[in-house]
Amino acid sequence: MELLQQGRDALDAVIAGVNLVEDDPKDNSVGYGGLPNEEGVVELDASVMHGPTGRGGAVAALRNVRYASRVARLVMERTDHVLLVGEGALKFAKAHGFKEEELLTDAARETWLRWKETLSNQDDWLPPHTIDTLDVGQNVKQALRHYGTINCNALDQQGGLSGCTTTSGLAFKIPGRVGDSPILGAGLWVDNDVGAAGSTGRGEANLLACSSVMIVEWMRSGQSPKTRASQPASGSRSRPR
Ligand code: ASP
Repeated sequence: MELLQQGRDALDAVIAGVNLVEDDPKDNSVGYGGLPNEEGVVELDASVMHGPTGRGGAVAALRNVRYASRVARLVMERTDHVLLVGEGALKFAKAHGFKEEELLTDAARETWLRWKETLSNQDDWLPPHTIDTLDVGQNVKQALRHYGTINCNALDQQGGLSGCTTTSGLAFKIPGRVGDSPILGAGLWVDNDVGAAGSTGRGEANLLACSSVMIVEWMRSGQSPKTRASQPASGSRSRPR
C-alpha cells in the first residue's frame, strides 16, 4: 500500500507485498520455510503479469532462491521467454545475482519427516513409537496435504493493474511437479481493461480449468466474481479428483 500511495507501478507493489511472505519462515506454503517435495527439497513456483504492457513471466520448480516472484519478474523483463523451470531457472537467477540458500527450515523439515514416517507401515521409516507398538506407521490418514499460496493483485494510481502468485506448491509433491501458480491463465491472469484473478488450492484442478483467465473473461462479459463463485458455469464438468 505504501508503494501504491507513493504512485509506484502496481507490479512493484505486489512483488514487495509477496516478498514479505516469501521471507516469512512461519508461512510454510511460500518461499523460505515452505514445505518441501517428497524428497525434502523446497521447490518454488511463481508468476507475474503486468497489465499496462500485457507482459508476463514465471518460474517453476525453482530451488534455493526464496524470491521466486522477483525471478519471475526478471524472466518477464530480461528475457524473450515467459517460463523458466528447474535448473535453468536457478542458473538464470544466479546470473542476475541471486545467492543460493537452503530454504528448508527445521520446522518444515520436521513436518516433512512426520509425513514420511507416517506415510506407510510397509517401509522402514518409523515415527516415534514404543517397543509395544504393533503397527508402526499406521497413522497414514494423519498425513494431511497442506495447501497455501499467495496471490496479490493491485491497481495503481495510473490505472495500471498487475498481479503476482508465488508458492512452494503442494507439500510433499513428486520432485519436478509444477502446479497452477506459474502457469499464466491458471494461477494468475491480468487484463488491464478488465481485472485480475489468481488462485490458491489444488493446482491440478485449476490446471484443468484455467480459472484465472476464465474469471477475467467472465468479468469482461459483465459478471461479478461473487456471482460466478456461487453459480458454477452451466455445462461445467465434474472432475474425478
Ligand atoms: N495452488 C498451489 C499448487 O497447486 C498450492 C496451494 O495453493 O496450496 O501448487
